[in-house]
Order: sequence, then C-alpha cells, then structure tokens
Amino acid sequence: MSTLPLSGSSASAGLVTDVIEFSVVDGPGNRFVVFLQGCNFDCLACHNPYTIKECIDCGICLDVCTTGALTMVADRVVWTESLCTGTDACIAACPYDSTPKARPQAVADVMARIRRASGFLSGVTVSGGEATQQAGFVHALFSAVKAEFPRLTCFVDSNGAADVAVWDGLDDVMDAAMIDLKCLDDALHVQLTGKSNREVLSSIELLAKRGKLYEVRLLLMAGLNDSDELLAQTGRWLAGIDPTMRIKVIGYRAHGVRPSALPLVEPTAAQREHYADVLRAEAPFDLLVI
Ligand code: SF4
Ligand code: SF4
Repeated sequence: MSTLPLSGSSASAGLVTDVIEFSVVDGPGNRFVVFLQGCNFDCLACHNPYTIKECIDCGICLDVCTTGALTMVADRVVWTESLCTGTDACIAACPYDSTPKARPQAVADVMARIRRASGFLSGVTVSGGEATQQAGFVHALFSAVKAEFPRLTCFVDSNGAADVAVWDGLDDVMDAAMIDLKCLDDALHVQLTGKSNREVLSSIELLAKRGKLYEVRLLLMAGLNDSDELLAQTGRWLAGIDPTMRIKVIGYRAHGVRPSALPLVEPTAAQREHYADVLRAEAPFDLLVI
C-alpha cells in the first residue's frame, strides 16, 4: 500500500483527533468511529473546523490552558490528557483551524480500544477531517480489524475528494463509503469548500459502480445551495447512477461553524421536507431527512 497517501501519518500510525466508541450516526448499526486530523477542503459550513489543519506548534493555545495540560517540549506542543478538563479553550484560541489534542496513534493502540468495545459493535468507521488523506493508515487499520474481527464492517466517511488510486488501494478492506456531495454546481462548490467537485463526482460514480457506496449526504443551506432547480438537477444526476440510492438530506446547523462572508442559514423542518420532495420527484431514492 505504499502508493496510498500518508499525509500526517504512516501506514502503522495515524494522526488521530478523537475516537468515539459507540455511534449510531456514522454508518449502519453501532460503530466505533476514528476521526483523523487534516482535510483537503476548507468548508464554510464545517462543524469541526479544528480538524482541518495539522498543528504547527505555534504555542498560542498554551496561554489559555489553565491546568498545565499543554506544555512546550522541544518546540512541540504536548497535550497531557490526564490534566485536561475538556473546556476546549485551546481549540477556540487556535487561529489555524487545528487542535493540540490530535496525536499520532498506532494501529495497535486503536485496535486495543476496538477490542474492548467489539462485543457491542457492528463496525468501524474512519471519518475526519478527511479520512482518505491518511489512506495508508486507514488501510492498515481496516486490515487489522478484518483479521481479528471479520464480522465487523469497515466504512469510510469522506468528502469524496480522493482519486481512483486511493479507492483502489482501500478496495480489499473497505466495505463501503459515505460521501458528502456539498454541491453539484462546481462554481458554488468552490465557493463552499475551496475546491472543485470533480473528484467528488467521480468518486460517487466509481464507488456506486463497485457496490461500495453506502450513502450520499447532501448538506443544504437555505438560500445558498437549496434551489429547486439545483436540487432537481442533483436528483437527476444521482438517479442516473442509481435511482434507489440511499441519500441523507442534512439541514445545515450553525453550531461550531466559523464566521463566514456568505450568509449561512439553517433550513426549517418544512424546508428540509421540501428538499426531500424535490429529490423524490426525480427517482425513488431511499431518503432520510435530518
Ligand atoms: S470536508 Fe468535512 S472536515 Fe473537511 S472542511 Fe469540509 S466539512 Fe470540514
Ligand atoms: S493547536 Fe493551534 S494554537 Fe495550538 S499550537 Fe497548534 S497551531 Fe498553535
């Protein structure tokens, strides 16, 4: 797997922001979720903007830590979990969309935590940040999961901006992926994320063709990427791939999002249901609205 991108990680260790031992919103069933640090998008509506960049050890966040959990050791910021009271003042103070809490973790260490929870799990999901930015680590972790717990499914939660080599590299150990489609209109996609949607669209097509697309997620903001015309166009494009595709319609929520030049507005419950109606008019999708 040496061709897989290893940014922020090696095949045996990943730069991990956090883990959740039990989640019911990150794929089917009860899942162990690993959040990886670093993302190739810079979304205006990102709910976890501190996962976007790797820490540059500037030391700014040390000033707001009152418990001694953050120290500078040999020009590196070190976080001592046992002294941390969890206020996340450090994350709020970071001007670089990062966190001092992300740490390299070996596959063996993550596996030890999965082992403890395994009796209650349906699978493991790697999320982010952007999981495919550390595809070498994801492959190594999924390989270890498959070797020890063949009944657990391995999913990737991705923004879809990964090339075919990444999906090829993960193919033997990844059961499926959940892909965010921020916007079908490329110019608007660039405004919303900082990048083109070209790879995202290719990823959706490729994964669907391989039977590895679990769901497409549409994050919709009132008055921005939710016009009937754009939604209908999106529905037609997705229907051309699979008219019974599982689609999750997600209404934007402002919690955790950075101030933005564009107006980001939460849709009402009625608007979210309307989005689903517009999509349903195009094909008999398996739709979930949240
Ligand atoms: S792809 Fe996800 S993690 Fe990356 S910037 Fe966008 S919302 Fe944030
Ligand atoms: S988390 Fe942010 S503020 Fe703290 S040392 Fe890293 S880059 Fe600087």
